[in-house]
Amino acid sequence: MKGVCLLGSTGSIGQSTLDVLRTNPHEYNVVALTAHRNEERLLKQCIEFKPTYAVIPDAGIAESFRHEIEASDASGTQVLSGLESLDFVAALPEVEIVVAAIVGSAGLLSTLAAANAGKKLLLANKESLVISGDLLMSAVKDNGATLLPLDSEHNALFQCMPSNYRTGCAAKGVRKLLLTASGGPFLNFDSSELKNVTVEQACAHPNWSMGRKISVDSATMMNKGLEVIEASYLFDMPAEKIEVLVHPQSIIHSMVDYVDGSVLAQLGNPDMRTPIAHALAWPDRHDSGVSALDLIVNKQLTFEEPSYEKFPCLMHAFEALKAKGTAPAILNAANEVAVGAFLDKKIGFTDIPKLIEKAMERSTIVVADSIKTVLSVDVETRLRTNQYIEEL
Ligand code: NAD
Ligand code: MG
Repeated sequence: MKGVCLLGSTGSIGQSTLDVLRTNPHEYNVVALTAHRNEERLLKQCIEFKPTYAVIPDAGIAESFRHEIEASDASGTQVLSGLESLDFVAALPEVEIVVAAIVGSAGLLSTLAAANAGKKLLLANKESLVISGDLLMSAVKDNGATLLPLDSEHNALFQCMPSNYRTGCAAKGVRKLLLTASGGPFLNFDSSELKNVTVEQACAHPNWSMGRKISVDSATMMNKGLEVIEASYLFDMPAEKIEVLVHPQSIIHSMVDYVDGSVLAQLGNPDMRTPIAHALAWPDRHDSGVSALDLIVNKQLTFEEPSYEKFPCLMHAFEALKAKGTAPAILNAANEVAVGAFLDKKIGFTDIPKLIEKAMERSTIVVADSIKTVLSVDVETRLRTNQYIEEL
């Protein structure tokens, strides 16, 4: 049985992961589950999976949760609190696989802890790679960790890559990466209609059911922007060799274009349990619980260019990737603050790209030479973006 630490177990990816583990009960042993809030869901998960540890970073919430656990059928589970407990469970010797499914920069340190401990790291938390791309990739390499992408596009690219791509994609005949995007709920809206869209509309994704932050990112197309940066670090490809292609049906999850004219694609129903099962079982395969793709039902596969005018976040992400250094960390922090303010109904939808542009324009980009540097850029950008919100 492989020991699993699931960071962010109560979220959308967390629950899909537990579903795949449930489908393969003899393969995995859940060692640790972690959550931010939603103790009710965490308690149910602990009763079902009986992990050795359950982590809630907030000491007050963890204390009351400890009483609930002691009175439940999961009384053998030890409840830990404090941010450092996330790093602790990600590095436990009995853990072979770490699923990094915390949302936002809050997932950075525990993702790094898993890489530093040489784990098989299943990465959903794309923000950590955006913030600290080179540092995280070095930590993986230097400590013999195995990084497997859970993001459906990157998991698709990974499946379509030549097996030895880590020695250099270009040398192995890869011409470019074709990153598909659904286009989100506002694909067919006019620019003028975007100003007054609501949180509920932004969170209603046509194809995927996801957490609220990534749903808004999909609506602004910042999600695709973050994914361009993620792909660049994962596969060591420059911005010029990554093309975004709007594919509203979300059946082709991405493609690799080779110099001989071959284009390899990975297809499947839009269900995160497929990339999760792929990465869990890799290099083997096992059941995910996802039904087989029916190409007669899904006979229409269409493609179009993205509109950078309507979705300026995508353009800002390309700019940040080209600027490198701390630019992606600035982009990410400004985006997290702006999306949070939109979800709290403090700003409008079209204020999100404006705030990001302002944060990026008014920043000095430096070399991202340490985690300390990127963390201080993250904190500083958050403060400034909050000030810009006050000034709106
Ligand atoms: P979610 O909001 O549904 O869940 C987030 C999880 O993180 C929860 O378990 C929550 O308790 C935990 N969390 C939140 N804030 C935290 C904090 N400050 N400290 C510790 N834990 C915290 O999000 P999600 O949709 O599952 O997305 C998780 C990650 O996976 C994101 O980085 C997202 O971009 C990525 N991702 C998600 C999907 C998807 O289909 N949902 C697809 C691809 C990538
Ligand atoms: Mg994705």
